[in-house]
Amino acid sequence: MEMNIHRNKNKKKYSERRSITILGSTGSIGCSTLNLIEFKSKSFEVVALTGNENVKLLIQQARAFKPKLAVIANEKLYDELKVGLSDTQVKVAAGKAALSDAANMESDIVVAGIVGIAGLAPTVAAVRRGAIIALANKECLVCSGTLLLEEVKRSGATLLPIDSEHNAIFQVFDFNNSSSVDSLTLTASGGPFIKTPLNKLMNVTPAQAVRHPNWDMGAKISIDSATMMNKGLELIEAFYLFPIKENQIDVLVHPQSVVHSMVSYKDGSVLAQLGTPDMRIPISYALAWPNRIETPAARLDLGEIGELNFQKPDLIRFPALSLARNALKMGGAMPTILNAANEVAVKCFLEKRIGFLDIIRVIENVLGETSNSTLNELIDIETCDLMIRNRAEEIAFALT
Ligand code: NAD
Ligand code: MG
Repeated sequence: MEMNIHRNKNKKKYSERRSITILGSTGSIGCSTLNLIEFKSKSFEVVALTGNENVKLLIQQARAFKPKLAVIANEKLYDELKVGLSDTQVKVAAGKAALSDAANMESDIVVAGIVGIAGLAPTVAAVRRGAIIALANKECLVCSGTLLLEEVKRSGATLLPIDSEHNAIFQVFDFNNSSSVDSLTLTASGGPFIKTPLNKLMNVTPAQAVRHPNWDMGAKISIDSATMMNKGLELIEAFYLFPIKENQIDVLVHPQSVVHSMVSYKDGSVLAQLGTPDMRIPISYALAWPNRIETPAARLDLGEIGELNFQKPDLIRFPALSLARNALKMGGAMPTILNAANEVAVKCFLEKRIGFLDIIRVIENVLGETSNSTLNELIDIETCDLMIRNRAEEIAFALT
């Protein structure tokens, strides 16, 4: 099978300064990336930054990192951004199309750090101009895997995973001998409710659900971790990133989040990447690839941790994994539908319009009533996404 990622070697030598655009710079991934860039300021420069609502932080970041362009997706905040940067050289823009303008600007690396399908169009723009994409935005690959990979192939872009599990696999996967790989094991922390019995899950609140035990992340991925849909989305992400079949991808709960994922080889060897749960480690690997750079992340002290635990996922309490695996097996529009329904359901839960267990109920209902189809173009994916969003809203409303 063909290699899907790192198609082109990084064009720049390690000694040269790399230019970086960050889509979603005001989020958790964006802030971790800027923190690393600040730490290694001689190695990197910032070309463009984008945000959605947090215009104050975007202004602060633009003043500190001096990009050529700062984009705010919410057009109502344009004036505030303009005024906030009026005494600088930074150009400002607002709106959805301006996100793709930012992605289109010449830069070595585009960090895809927007959450959800909102990041798809600008990521596709960056792919089409052949950039190196440091991909955090897993929803992009989930709802548009085949199309995105075709675009990568066509443009000669390079796709490097930032998601910690996929970054771990990327570090230990033998792309020159992919037939020697037996299986991949994605590790999952299990989220904040790993020990919560089913009858108690009904009443958990958004505040409890976003409190992840190991990682400090945005609200949407934190809820996805609590339902374990995050691992479901990652299963689909892994399928697209690595030359492997769906039935060769396993999930193992590992509450300490130290072993970030593993590759099992035919000879019985298992290679894993370990580290403290700090996204700056996988981000740094993508930014510096094929080299490594120093990071401010805490070092792993296994003697201090003492024990590492592993267990099989509980598919009864966390059915999201099975839903995602089935969507992947069915293919076509199903992963797009799964993603759209999940985005809406998570939003409704965060807004306290539905309960925690209703998240999966909404997705199940949407998947159950929708017939599969083939999506060939970006526009087909966006149309399908919009249609499913409307339907998921209706279903969520009926549950309230
Ligand atoms: P976040 O909510 O902290 O940040 C999201 C970013 O996207 C913000 O900059 C926000 O302004 C922007 N954004 C949101 N909606 C937008 C819209 N409609 N238009 C334009 N911009 C919009 O999320 P995060 O935790 O940084 O996650 C970002 C992505 O990275 C997600 O896909 C997530 O699954 C993935 N990821 C995150 C982590 C992590 O540790 N945070 C780890 C692995 C993967
Ligand atoms: Mg992950």
